Parts: sequence; C-alpha cells; structure tokens
Amino acid sequence: MTSIQLETPTTGKYEQPTGLFINNEFVKGVDGKQFEVINPTNEKVICSVHEASEKDVDIAVAAARKAFEGDWRKVTPNERGKLLVKLADLFDERSDQLAAIESLDNGKAFTMAKGDVAAASGCLRYYGGWADKIEGKVVDTSPDTFNYIRKEPIGVCGQIIPWNFPLLMWAWKIGPAIACGNTVVLKTAEQTPLSGLYAANLCKEAGFPPGIVNVISGFGKIAGAAIASHMDVDKVAFTGSTLVGRQIMKAAAGSNLKKVTLELGGKSPNIVFDDADIDNAISWVNFGIFFNHGQCCCAGSRVYVQEGIYDKFVQRFKERAQKNVVGDPFAADTFQGPQVSQIQFDRIMGYIKAGQDEGATIVTGGKRKGNEGYFIEPTIFADVKDDMSIMQEEIFGPVCSIAKFKTKEDAVRLGNNTTYGLAAAVHTSNLNTAIEVSNALKAGTVWVNTYNTLHWQLPFGGFKSSGIGRELGEAALDNYLQTKTVSIRLGDALFG
Ligand code: ADP
Repeated sequence: MTSIQLETPTTGKYEQPTGLFINNEFVKGVDGKQFEVINPTNEKVICSVHEASEKDVDIAVAAARKAFEGDWRKVTPNERGKLLVKLADLFDERSDQLAAIESLDNGKAFTMAKGDVAAASGCLRYYGGWADKIEGKVVDTSPDTFNYIRKEPIGVCGQIIPWNFPLLMWAWKIGPAIACGNTVVLKTAEQTPLSGLYAANLCKEAGFPPGIVNVISGFGKIAGAAIASHMDVDKVAFTGSTLVGRQIMKAAAGSNLKKVTLELGGKSPNIVFDDADIDNAISWVNFGIFFNHGQCCCAGSRVYVQEGIYDKFVQRFKERAQKNVVGDPFAADTFQGPQVSQIQFDRIMGYIKAGQDEGATIVTGGKRKGNEGYFIEPTIFADVKDDMSIMQEEIFGPVCSIAKFKTKEDAVRLGNNTTYGLAAAVHTSNLNTAIEVSNALKAGTVWVNTYNTLHWQLPFGGFKSSGIGRELGEAALDNYLQTKTVSIRLGDALFG
C-alpha cells in the first residue's frame, strides 16, 4: 500500500499518499521500511510513510537524471512556465486540503497554514512567470569573434527541506529549479512528510512528465546525507540548521563539488527606538517571535528596546503575549499550536531553564501548556545579558529575550553581536534612523516597522553563518543556472 485514508477536522476524509514519489508513481522503498508520523497536537501516530534508503536515493536520482537528459530538454521555457502556473492553480484549488494536512502533521494553526499555501502558490506562479525570461548576453571582444553567453540549467538538484514550513519550503525549492529547466529530488523532513507527498501528486496532475519532480520521505543522516554526497546530483539546496548546513557543505566538497546553497539559522535582532509607535512595535515584535510558534529561522528572538520606553514596552508586550491563543491548530482563534516534536519541545524547555539558571527574569510564560501535545506558553525573558545562552543561541521556539539599549550605536553593536545574519528589524518614526540602522545591520533582510513580511518577489537569505546564496526573487535563479560562454571565430572582418 502506498496510500492511506486519513481524516482532518476541516476537510474530512482524504487519500494521503505514503510512498516515495519517483517517476510520477508512489512506490515502496527497496528495503520495505516505513516510519511513523506523529501528530504534535496529541502525540499520537497519524500514519506511517515509506522510508528512503541510500538505494532509493540512487533510484530517484537516476530518474531525475534520465528526465533531465531526455525530453525535458526539448520542453520550451514557456511550457515549463505553464506547468508551474498550473501547479500553482492546483495549490489554490486544494488550499483547504493542503492546509489541513499541514496543520495535522506540523501543528501550525489552520489559518496560518492557509497563508503558507497561498505563499507557496504565489511562489510557484511567480517562477512560472520567470521560465521564459531567462536570457543570455552577447559580448563583443573583437570584430573576428562572436561571443554569446548562455544561461543553462545545472542538472539534477537535490533539495533538502525542514519541518517548520513544509509546503512553503517545497515551493521555494521546486519553483526556481523547474523554471530554470532542472530536475529535482526533494527530501522532506522526517517530522513532516505528508503535505510534500500530497503536493507531489499535484505535479503529476498538473502534467509534469515523469522524473522531473521526485519527492522522498526519509531521515537526514541516511537519505539526506545520500543526496548531499551523491556523485550524480549537480546541486544541493538545503534549508535547516547551521550544524547540518556545515555537514552538507563538507559532503558536497568530499564528493563531486556539487553547487551548494544554504538557508540556515538565525538569532535576529528586533530593535525598538523610543520614538517608535509603541502599539505597532509591540504587534510586530509579538508576531516576529511568536509566529509559527517561534519556529522560524528569521524569528525576531532578540528584542532590544531603547531605555526611555523599556519598562512600558516590557509591561505592554507581556499583556499582548498573554493574549496569544495557544491551542488546537484547527480552532478558529488559535494563533499558536504545539511545537513540532518531543525533541524540539525538550530543547526549548532546556533553554527556558538555562535562561532562569543564568539569571534572566521571566516576564511571562516559561511552562508547558496542558498535559497532551507539545504546547509551550509564549515566554518572554527581560534583562537578558549579551553572553547568556538565550541571547546567543537559536532556540527555535516561543521564547523571546529582551534587553535595554541607550544609543543608536549601541543598537547596531548589539544587533550585530551574533554569528548569524539572516534578518533584523528596526522600529522608529525617524526616517534617518531607519535607513542608517538598516544599512549598518549585517543581515540579509531588514524590516522597518514590520516583521516577517517575506514575499516571493524579494530575495531572502543570510549574511555570516546564516547561509550561502539567496532564495526567492530574481536572485534565486542564479542558484539554479550555470553560465556558458560560446566564442565563435568568424572570418576576416567585412569592414575596415
Ligand atoms: P532540525 O534540527 O530543526 O530538525 P535539521 O537541520 O536537522 O533541522 O533538518 C533539516 C533537514 O535536513 C531535514 O530534512 C533533515 O532530514 C535533513 N538532515 C539532517 N541531517 C542531515 C545530514 N547529515 N545530511 C543531509 N540532510 C540532513
């Protein structure tokens, strides 16, 4: 069996694929192994899915290679674009189903999951638009030579995605890769394989030929490592922890020097000046850290507040955070669902304990919520010192650290005092402060008077240890293309 009937509270019964999606078919793994998928809301098993071994990765890569070297090359850019647009339309049509699967498997609030599906379809449609706008160049070097520069696909792309935005990361990895004419083997995260498999079926429905998009479920150390070290994968794109990002780069270096793009962790500063609209700032600081249960690589987890409004800010932010509804992802008013897994839950609780042990003050939260599911109260620490682990390390949960600053220079120094550089934000009503501080912050994205407002048209990625390369926007195309120079020797010049 490579599918099972499941049920969600919002969409009722549906057919969930559980096999490995290779060559447009759902198949069992060679070793016949399966692994359990856990519902983080109640800690119960949802179903089991087939697990990819190294041998299955070989089979998926061979399918992607055959497709890449075969008829896919003959498909026009315009046709590639139409496939992506059709896929985006199917995401819109099945939006409720996709979002319900995401909430079931990941635990995110259904209303937020709907937002993820809309952002995924927006991304796929956007890259569908790019497919027939990828252009080369002609460069004159001398009258007897004709040089043209072509942009060509790289080949087979191994895409390894995390569990925090399963569908959105699926779209970020598949959109630009396909627009540029590559083929894909994508491995979902072992915690959240379900939506990626359902979406794989939509590729087939949209008319993608076999082997273009292959989606496998499996573990990082086995299937993920096999992709990263594979001799016939031409490029690997990874989103996940900095630790694993380093391993992937090593594996790429130790195998065939495949191209690598990495979107890694963060410890992003959210800086609030005295002159900010305080209500607006509190809303965005709250959203910056607690959106997606704090499980965002760009979470605004370090909040620096200028001394003039510090006490007022902390008090009002506490009141705001206490209003965040934590509970069943399918309830209409839920803002925050459970953390994704027992492992993540334990890690976060460990950081909360470390913060207390190191002497930071808990303003609100700090405890598990309920007895079932991986729920954690929105937690705010104040008076956090710069060298405390909760100010330095990525927690990936609903835990915020606040500290006070005096001057603009202090804000920039504190903001940049991290090995990461994914995102940052500035809240101020002074245009000069906004621009000066934004320019001085070492981060791939800086938000002003807002937070987490990612858009598929805007590049996203990290400075420093937060990654290599950019996703989204025109910038992402570079990661999926290589440049070829063709120089043609002409006859004698006709003039001169
Ligand atoms: P987290 O720590 O938040 O679970 P990871 O970085 O471990 O995040 O996982 C992100 C993705 O990377 C998942 O798909 C996971 O299976 C994969 N992964 C984990 N370890 C490796 C590895 N050594 N090589 C390749 N992929 C890996």
